[in-house]
Amino acid sequence: MKRLIHFSIVLSLITSNATHAQTSTRVDSVLHAIRVEAIEKSDVYSLAQPLIDSIGSRLTGSADLQRADDWLAAAYRGWGIPVRTEQYGTARAWRRGTIHIDLTAPRVRSLEGMLMAFSAGTRKPIQGPVIIYPNVSSGSEFEAWLPQVRGKFLALSLAEPTCRPDENWQKFAPESFEKMRDERTAALRAWSASLHACGLGGEALLLRLGEAGALGLLVSLRPSLTASPGWGTSKIGTASTDKVPEVGLSCEDYGLVRRLAERNQGPVIRLDAPARFEGEVPVFNVIAELRGSEKPDEYVLLSAHLDSWDAASDATDNGSGTLLMMEAMRIFNAVYPHPRRTILAVHWGGEEQGLNGSRAFASQHSDIVNGLQALFNQDNGTGRIVSISMSGFAGAGAFFRRWLA
Ligand SMILES: [Zn+2]
Repeated sequence: MKRLIHFSIVLSLITSNATHAQTSTRVDSVLHAIRVEAIEKSDVYSLAQPLIDSIGSRLTGSADLQRADDWLAAAYRGWGIPVRTEQYGTARAWRRGTIHIDLTAPRVRSLEGMLMAFSAGTRKPIQGPVIIYPNVSSGSEFEAWLPQVRGKFLALSLAEPTCRPDENWQKFAPESFEKMRDERTAALRAWSASLHACGLGGEALLLRLGEAGALGLLVSLRPSLTASPGWGTSKIGTASTDKVPEVGLSCEDYGLVRRLAERNQGPVIRLDAPARFEGEVPVFNVIAELRGSEKPDEYVLLSAHLDSWDAASDATDNGSGTLLMMEAMRIFNAVYPHPRRTILAVHWGGEEQGLNGSRAFASQHSDIVNGLQALFNQDNGTGRIVSISMSGFAGAGAFFRRWLA
């Protein structure tokens, strides 16, 4: 499918305002050269490996995203493609340090987990017992319980009855599947009702727990069964408060800690997680350009956000889109270096925080927006592309249908 997108971009550039008879031979030869360059001389792997393995996650405001900006610009320069970085604003910098989470009682076991992004860290290792969020039916019951959290870790999530996918249970223990599912649904409802009963929303609740002296908050990294569950999936969210460390534990380890606490078997956790905030830092879009030879003020944009969410290697969201646009530019530069219109590859920052880089670009570059002929943005990860969204531009559909036919 990536090939299709390469072809569609080229078609849009070289067939506009020209008769098919005049250009068909040239189109064929350019398409053939693109195909050879893309299929036989692909540079994607050698680009992907350092981006994903060596740089890895690229949270906006982090030193890692700055490294990625520099790496990206160096790659374009290496190909002889003009490239610039443009500051679009500032962002709060947060640095994730190493993390060690250990169960020290009733037995010793190192736990699998991570700090939530933008969580408070620890200045030195902290240690304390674990309690669970109580079953309360009113705000006053919650307030009466609250002092107990001082100096303790609070296990906030429900423990999953299984960390395997439902299909696995159905396959190997079909006779008990429905019972497990019904009990899980009932437990989830009761837990949710208890959370609501305290009268505080998510962030306010966590702030209140922090103010009450909780040492740290523990949640399960297994995505809620009501929202995109998956085999082996973990999701690292944003911390709701920067006042108290918020730790996500793997599904199995969270279940272990919670069961120990629930049954008064004295779990104690030691946490060493020196994350820190580093103030406001400048943040950038990276823009590579192949200047148009005939209509330089008309633009075709290839875009993908370079920033990513925290914690993973971010191959999918959006390393894949980044690499696609880099490879498209490399190929154009090799086989079609003087396009009629200007081709820009724009690698956004701040997408995960609310499309910040692209919004700023649009407001800073009315000339480009006014001269825009087509924009190809990729942010759908790997795998076969089964649809392309027109992002509200109903009239664009006919063009894409024609280009991709
Ligand atoms: Zn994305």
